[in-house]
Amino acid sequence: MVDRVGIIYTEDYQKYNFGKDHPLRPLRLKLTYSLMEKLKLLEHQRLTIMKPRLATQHEIERLHSPDYVEIVKKLSENPKDSSIIPYRYGLGPGDNPIFKGMYEASALVCGASIIAADTVWNDEEFKITFNPAGGLHHAMKEKASGFCIFNDIGVAIKHLKNLKKDIRIAYLDVDCHHGDGVQWLFYDDPNVLTISYHEDGRFLFPGTGNISEIGEGKGKGFSINFPLLPGTYNKSFINLFRKTVPKLLEAYAPDILITQLGVDTYFDDPLTQMGFSLAVYRDIAQTMKTSAREYCQDKWLALGGGGYLMTVVPRAWTIFLARMLDVELKNELPDSWIKEAKENAPYEDTPYLLWDRGEKVEVQMLSHPEIAKKIIDYTKSLIEISDEKFLPNLSKA
Ligand SMILES: [Zn+2]
Repeated sequence: MVDRVGIIYTEDYQKYNFGKDHPLRPLRLKLTYSLMEKLKLLEHQRLTIMKPRLATQHEIERLHSPDYVEIVKKLSENPKDSSIIPYRYGLGPGDNPIFKGMYEASALVCGASIIAADTVWNDEEFKITFNPAGGLHHAMKEKASGFCIFNDIGVAIKHLKNLKKDIRIAYLDVDCHHGDGVQWLFYDDPNVLTISYHEDGRFLFPGTGNISEIGEGKGKGFSINFPLLPGTYNKSFINLFRKTVPKLLEAYAPDILITQLGVDTYFDDPLTQMGFSLAVYRDIAQTMKTSAREYCQDKWLALGGGGYLMTVVPRAWTIFLARMLDVELKNELPDSWIKEAKENAPYEDTPYLLWDRGEKVEVQMLSHPEIAKKIIDYTKSLIEISDEKFLPNLSKA
């Protein structure tokens, strides 16, 4: 049986760059690809490396309003265009600074996600495709948000809907931030089930993702949110994830699974307050893979997402790719990659091993048993909510 995995990559991903002081640095993609290469995953016989293309304006406008696309285009050509008030569109100093070429850089990420979607949908040989530059889940129809100019996930969903009108898509988001853009864009659409696990919006941008956000109109029951307490760590999360994801996907029975693989849930991530270590990403990947095979027609479109440590994102996404390829990785990192990480991210702790086993987090939790208990009890309550409130709606669909 042919069982190919596709990865979409180009050096041009480096052009999605908000500047040197911005937390979302394209360096993380470069170091990711380099680690995958040095661990010989890229020469794996089941792997195909694909080049992206720019999404056309028409493809982007299936999701974004033509007005907004035009504004991004104009500012991309001339960032100082004084006829535009960029803040109206979520652009400008702060989260989404304007930079020359931002239209093309964003269209490239969208094009890569379209190619990934197209390949896994149309090519029988491919069960999984992965665009690590994708996953820009915060962008809205007429607005940039949270480092996301265009929402490549929404653009890929619209592309799939164009290929098959009544396609049923399950979108699963494990970024530390709520997958708000995708949720609101398809909030009334029963054919797009959105499931997001994230740090509770009371503590983190964008502030949404409450359990009560369940969709509206025909889409009622097809938005699902699991807000997590700060400090949630591997054991409690994986218990929740394994007890909810397969059941929800089985009940919904989609034609394809799309995942956003943000890894800013890492305990040391500078933007968030969660407690994951690298080992959790192996478990998440395995659950996704098994669920895609059993309940999602064996079609899995994987996209990147957040993650703001240049030495952690590459290891996490390499762990994901290894799971996609059924490769067991050794704990030792290649010397040449350690050197590269050290040179490019001198201000971060240099990693020498792939896994960190999360001892630091577990130790912290053991010294605060009352907090650990609170987290365990809370995640258990989320499993009950899922079974009692979320699941019945999907089974009726
Ligand atoms: Zn995030």
